[in-house]
Amino acid sequence: MRCITLLGATGSIGVSTLDVIARHPDKYSVYALTGNLQIDKLALQCQQHKAKFAVVNDEVAAAKLDVLLQASGCATEVIYGMDALCQVASDDAVDTVMAAIVGAAGLMPTLAAVKTGKKILLANKESLVMAGGLFMQAVKESGSVLLPIDSEHNAIFQCLPADYQQAHSSGINKLLLSASGGPFRGWSAEQMSAVTPDQACAHPNWSMGRKISVDSASLMNKGLELIEACWLFDVGPEKIEVVVHPQSIIHSAVQYIDGSVLAQLGNPDMRTPIAHALAWPQRIDAGVANLNLFEIAQLNFEQADLQAFPCLQLAFDTARAAGDAPAILNAANEIAVQAFLDERIGFTQIAQVVGETLSGLSFTEPESLDAVQESDNQARAFSAAYIAKIES
Ligand code: NDP
Ligand code: MG
Repeated sequence: MRCITLLGATGSIGVSTLDVIARHPDKYSVYALTGNLQIDKLALQCQQHKAKFAVVNDEVAAAKLDVLLQASGCATEVIYGMDALCQVASDDAVDTVMAAIVGAAGLMPTLAAVKTGKKILLANKESLVMAGGLFMQAVKESGSVLLPIDSEHNAIFQCLPADYQQAHSSGINKLLLSASGGPFRGWSAEQMSAVTPDQACAHPNWSMGRKISVDSASLMNKGLELIEACWLFDVGPEKIEVVVHPQSIIHSAVQYIDGSVLAQLGNPDMRTPIAHALAWPQRIDAGVANLNLFEIAQLNFEQADLQAFPCLQLAFDTARAAGDAPAILNAANEIAVQAFLDERIGFTQIAQVVGETLSGLSFTEPESLDAVQESDNQARAFSAAYIAKIES
């Protein structure tokens, strides 16, 4: 029986994870569930999955959740704040942590789980983008098992040799990172200038939270994933090729030096990588329909358009620059995406905000988490000020 803490239970990945867990009550039990704004949903999840702890961000939310839980006779204990998140991620009773908080807020609790040697199911790509060097060092030191949930990275993981982490060379030529191209594939920058948040969030293949949906539409998500892949698989950005594949059936592939390409295919449903990582190295039912290749009939591939989608180019440049450049990119992007969702800036201005922030700040090599946090703060302040300037 594996005992699980689910960071970000109320989100898209959180809900899919609970769906898989509920199919296997003999294998998994829930220790803690965490949420932020969706308190009613978190209360229901605590009842259904008999969580020992529930964590929210502040005292007011905690009091509200407590009232709901007591009214339903649920025994879940409510705690709040960053220390509480880190506590449920690192408690001795827990062996597996799903890291599915969105954005930089996921870094500290995920690292708390890493440092205590948990099995980590990593959805929160932002923590690797922000602090990849320190994060991977902590994984090495603690002996934590790190399994990627991001569908592309999970696919690559499945296509790599089993001893890849130890042997490492293994005749690999390139990692082929799939990209659906998002809702605006084939559009020009001009056509994208007036799109609404709802249009940007209407992904053709995947149902996801709003932040990652906007990132998918701008291809910043692919850029973040490129950086994530560099850290996870210990390769440089030149070893990774982005392949636009609109059907989202091939989730990514590994090209070997003998000409072989190993790919992982499946319906676009996050329960597959979640089930894979939960059960690894075994396999469990994920509740996902079998792939029907006759129905799909056709798979297409094209190059990414870096002119129309400058966020991907910015991320490529950032991956090459390393240091705290990815942390700056990530923070500026979070601020810009929120401003776009709040209808304060246009869609194409997201890249403008990120680009200006990267040019306006100098890069350093972060030696500590405090230094990463400082770069993150500076980038947030710079991009917020820039947005205020272009708004007026
Ligand atoms: P959602 O927006 O759907 O969910 C985010 C979760 O994080 C929610 O539980 C939310 O709580 C919580 N949360 C948000 N802000 C904070 C905060 N400041 N402090 C604590 N908790 C917070 O996101 P997704 O599930 O789509 O994505 C989660 C992560 O997984 C992201 O890093 C994303 O990049 C990654 N990912 C997602 C994929 C997907 O298919 N959705 C695919 C691959 C990666 P509440 O809702 O209660 O406010
Ligand atoms: Mg992905």
